[in-house]
Amino acid sequence: MNLFNKIREPVVIKSDSTAQEQLRQLVDFREYIAEEDLERLEQDIKSVEAGIAGENAVLSELENSHMPMYILHDIYLKQGELSSQIDYLVITKKLILVIECKNLSGNISIDKHGDFTRIIRKGGINHREGIYSPYTQNQRHLELIREIRRPEKDLLAQAAFDKSFSDYHKSVIVFANSKTVINTRYAPQEIQDLLVKSDDLINYIKTLHKNSNVPDMTDKEMQMLSDFFMSHHTEHPVDYTEKYRKKDKKTDSPEYICPNCGGEVRQGQYGWYCKKKCGMRLEKVYGVPLTNRQIISLLHGKTTTCKTKLGKVTVFPEAEEKHYQGKTLFQWRTESKK
Ligand SMILES: [Zn+2]
Repeated sequence: MNLFNKIREPVVIKSDSTAQEQLRQLVDFREYIAEEDLERLEQDIKSVEAGIAGENAVLSELENSHMPMYILHDIYLKQGELSSQIDYLVITKKLILVIECKNLSGNISIDKHGDFTRIIRKGGINHREGIYSPYTQNQRHLELIREIRRPEKDLLAQAAFDKSFSDYHKSVIVFANSKTVINTRYAPQEIQDLLVKSDDLINYIKTLHKNSNVPDMTDKEMQMLSDFFMSHHTEHPVDYTEKYRKKDKKTDSPEYICPNCGGEVRQGQYGWYCKKKCGMRLEKVYGVPLTNRQIISLLHGKTTTCKTKLGKVTVFPEAEEKHYQGKTLFQWRTESKK
């Protein structure tokens, strides 16, 4: 027995997910959405909830596998123009698994071109809708991982890495809904091979192991890989309510307005900002970060409250000039609460 190999059980490195943040935002947005869009929002909330349930089912399978593995949930990788959101990145003794979870109601059919169609029965009629191929999605994830991991300078090492890449890196598509019937009769073999129901996932991984002829990694190597992927993971705040506000554009009303200059307000990678860069601080009052809900609420012209060093304050949906270290900036107007 190798004394340095101590990992016997799954290790969860990261378990939080953006789906939970998405759900929070959508639920909060109920208050602000136009009546006619509410049904669409409720449907989206349901499908996000189903997605979360599916991901949890997969997590619990992995956690109960009794296999040494590192589990990284909801990893966002970026390289140049390419980016990937990976449901589960799992590092076992032999493999790096890119796992895509699907938890859909209805059945799935895959045609000979590898196109996925979801079939939902409503009122006695089959509704068919194309869904973005999770196979293609995973191929993109693997491409990005290849780009990130490929040795930079050494051509020989690059060739060896490319040659063995598919021996180490595997794509898996998990269907979490046990009731889903997947019609794969016409599907290309390479797609059929990586579809699995969540309660079969561990057997599937064990079979991959059995058929693999790559040497086992040491604990240290597994850990280094896990660290490597975590170091490439970035948080990227997304405004999941944007698509419901998009249609406002048709009526020529801008999405959100800066309370200071009337410019357009956007939510970017680093948070909320005024496009005119007028100096309005949308994200904080007195250095205290506001929640997404509070910011949206203020942008909708509603007052909110927040706790600062000065105690509890009321925050008003209007700008107030502040002078700080010789600079002029603007923040939401506040009044201390009595
Ligand atoms: Zn502004």
